[in-house]
Amino acid sequence: MSRRANRRRPVDSPLDVGSALRGVDQVESAADGDWIVRPIAAAAATKDYRCPGCDHEIYPATPHLVAWRVDGIAASGGGGPDERRHWHKPCWAARGRRGVTVQRSRNAPRHG
Ligand SMILES: [Zn+2]
Repeated sequence: MSRRANRRRPVDSPLDVGSALRGVDQVESAADGDWIVRPIAAAAATKDYRCPGCDHEIYPATPHLVAWRVDGIAASGGGGPDERRHWHKPCWAARGRRGVTVQRSRNAPRHG
């Protein structure tokens, strides 16, 4: 008894675990260019990376994000995985504030 289902479904894969783990790329425009930002879920973070924002490690199973320049990829003719940087989420969020004004409270006591 062979009975084939010839019907095609518009959506064949209800749950794409791979993409779910990889997250969805977003493009963020910043003062220093357009960046592609890809969130990395804890389950997809299997290695440790160095965050350029704080110069500390991003440990495995830590949700974070990967960012790289849009025009960096275009300039190198497509695909610039070496240009990708792994960031802590708060470090990436704070990136835009870097180099503009260092907030320093006059009255704040100095410890260390
Ligand atoms: Zn960091």
